Formats: sequence, C-alpha cells, structure tokens
Amino acid sequence: MALSGLKINKLLPGTNCKECGANTCMAFAMKLAAQKAMLSECPYASEEAKQILGAASEPPVKGVKIGTEKVSSLGEETVFYRHEKTFVNKSVIAINVNDSDDLDIVEKIGAYTLIRVGEELHIDAIAVTQKGDDDRFAAVSKKIYEKTSLPLILRASALSGLDKASAAIAGSKSLLSGITAADAEAAQQIAKRDGQVLGVTADDLDGLYALTSQLKAGGFNDLVIEFKTYSTSEAFQTNSIARKAALKNSVKPLGYASLRFIDTGNALEDFIAAVTEIDKYGGILVLPSFDPAQLVTLMTLRQNIYTDPQKPIQVEPKLYPIGEPDRNSPVFVTTNFSLTYFLVAGEIENSGISAWLLIPECEGMSVLTSWAAGKFSGGYIAKFAKELDLESLVDARTFIIPGFIAPESGELEEGMPGWKVLVGPQESADIESFVKSVLVKA
Ligand code: SF4
Repeated sequence: MALSGLKINKLLPGTNCKECGANTCMAFAMKLAAQKAMLSECPYASEEAKQILGAASEPPVKGVKIGTEKVSSLGEETVFYRHEKTFVNKSVIAINVNDSDDLDIVEKIGAYTLIRVGEELHIDAIAVTQKGDDDRFAAVSKKIYEKTSLPLILRASALSGLDKASAAIAGSKSLLSGITAADAEAAQQIAKRDGQVLGVTADDLDGLYALTSQLKAGGFNDLVIEFKTYSTSEAFQTNSIARKAALKNSVKPLGYASLRFIDTGNALEDFIAAVTEIDKYGGILVLPSFDPAQLVTLMTLRQNIYTDPQKPIQVEPKLYPIGEPDRNSPVFVTTNFSLTYFLVAGEIENSGISAWLLIPECEGMSVLTSWAAGKFSGGYIAKFAKELDLESLVDARTFIIPGFIAPESGELEEGMPGWKVLVGPQESADIESFVKSVLVKA
C-alpha cells in the first residue's frame, strides 16, 4: 500500500540538506508520496528506508511478462476503476488449440491483424491443450511456437507432459498452467530450468493465497493465478475480490494477474465470459476457438477500456495525403484526436476526391473541445501551416475547416493571406455531400 508523506518523512534522515533538490526532507517525502521523485535522489537514505519504500512502491498487482519475441505484459495495476488513473496492461487474448487439431489454424491466428484508430491489434498468445501423449504435446507445442513466435500457455494432462513441452520451447517465457500445490515444487524446477512463468490454481482463494506465498518464499515469483470458478458471475465476483484485496488491503499473495480458460460449450456464454474478463480485471483470457468476427468486438472493447482516459488516442500532427492529392488539391483541417482523424479521412476517401488533411497538435482533443480550450483557433492553424511550409507544397490555397469552428475562418484567412477558407460541415458524415455540392460543383 502506498505510504503517506508523513510516514515516509519518518524514514528520511531529517537533515534538510537539500541535496535531493527539495528544501526539506518533508518536502521530498511529499514528492515521493505523489510518485514525483525517486528515493535514489536522496544520497543519505538508509537501507531500512530503501527496503520499506521499495516494497511500498511495488505495484499491488505484480508485473510479469510472457513471450520473448512477441512479448505481452501483465499486471502492474494500481487502481480499481479506470477513471481513477488508468489501467496499465491490457488483458491478453489467447486462442486455444488442441494438440489433436489441424495446425493450419495456427497460421491464421498468427496472421490475424485488426487496425483500429491507427493501432495494429494482434492475438497475443496461443494456449495448447494436451489431448494426445506427452511426445505429441511437446512436438505440437514446439511446432506452434516455431510458426508464430507467440508465447504459449501449456495446458497438459499431467506434469510429465508439461515437463516435455516446456523443455521443447525452453527460453520462450511461456506459461505452464494448472499448477496445484501438489505439483508446485516440481513445476517450479521446470519453470526455472526453462525460463517459463507458472500459472497456479487451487480450489479457493485461501488455497491460492497459500500457494503463491509458498512459491514466493521459495524464490519463484513469476506467477499468474487461475481461479476455479464455475460461472461468469462467479468469475466476475472472484476477479473483483482478488483485485480489491490486492489494491485496497495489500494482500500481496492475491496480487497477480489472472488466467481463465473460457469454454462453456455455448458460444454466447463464451462471448459474455470474455467480455466480463476484459471488463473486470482479466489478465489472460483463452478463447476456445478462433473467430475473427468475435475478435473484432473483443479487441475494440479492450482497446477502449485500456486506453488512458487522461491521454486520448492521437495521431501525429502533420499534413496527411488522402488518396493521391497534388498541388491543386484542397486542404481539409481537423484535430489530432484519432477517432476524429479516421472519421474525417474516411469520409474524404468516400467522397471520391483526393485531398490534403492538415492535422495540428490539439492534445488529442475533439474539434469542439480543442476549440474551447484555445487549441484550434484560426491563428493556431495558420501558425502550424506556416511551420510545415504548406504554401510551398500546395497551390490550390483552399482550406476547409470543420463547421463547428466557423468563427475562426476570418482569423485563418488573416493568418494565411491569399488563402480561401471554406466552412465545411459540422459532422464528418456530411463531408461527401459537401464535396459534391461545393467542391466538385465549383
Ligand atoms: S537529500 Fe535526503 S537528507 Fe537531504 S533534504 Fe533530501 S531527503 Fe533530506
């Protein structure tokens, strides 16, 4: 749990020497409490202070990475609700493949790509479930890893299968799942030998508490926890209890990312379970099969939840070509909020013309918000256009600004003498009709 400034101050030397840049130890303690300074900035911090503050500054949900070539990060969460700050590491989406399946599906899983608001989204991992003997399980796991380089989640029938498959993909930082207290010691040796992560499970939270504590005390802490739950509502409740225990009550043995295999036997139930995991603290969710249509929805949901609410998704401020514009093409203007950019760019494309799209730095805000904040005025747009030397790139001298900032047209014309400013529609959906009725006609 985070320590208060007063408690931190008691651990500092109290000499007020100012070498850390703060006027007093108390001022430095307040900065540490607000996570605006590092203890290493005080050269006189005692070993005791380093130990206590080091432990206190660890995230309540332990961070762990799976994969080496394609890496997914898990945990490191510090808040219960997204709006308090942000969620840190998005839920990992994995697809289950049985070792008896036709492996053509693996190529499709590895190649799956969804581009949404400028971000490329992929499947993060593959779970391999043992159906045959240990040799087959190991051979198929190796083949899948070689084909995709994705981290694997190995689900074996027994420890012997896990042992062989782990050795076959040693060094891949994959996840050995289903480890119970009975197998913990042996599994830990396998994971240490092959550089893997362990997914531990128990009948209830008390059992998990004891198991993670035992492994951590034995020096192994690259863990995720797999709750045994029997319905989506129970999973929702258990995920929430564990997250709350870790965050609010500093229960470190439950402060690990979770793993859940989803396979209710009913496609709709599976989908609801996956949505619940993404909504409520799921670390890794393993889908029973590869369904591209379902993935679009899940990845879109995940992208929305794991976007920092204080940092809107943005595109780079610059001049974008839409289609194949030339020196006689008009220049549309909008903000660098990703969603706005992609909507406007898409509607210009749909209109059938080629054009330039000028995107100034607006801190990722929408048109009206950035305008209200003074970040999208006529003068500001003109200044950005001059910085890009727009006049040397375009002869047409026509700006089209969003209808919402119509009052800025005069200031933009003043800032860019010789340019004509047309007031476009307020909604991007009306760009096509605007182009046909105003630009093409002209
Ligand atoms: S450097 Fe350390 S001892 Fe000196 S003022 Fe800062 S916190 Fe206090």
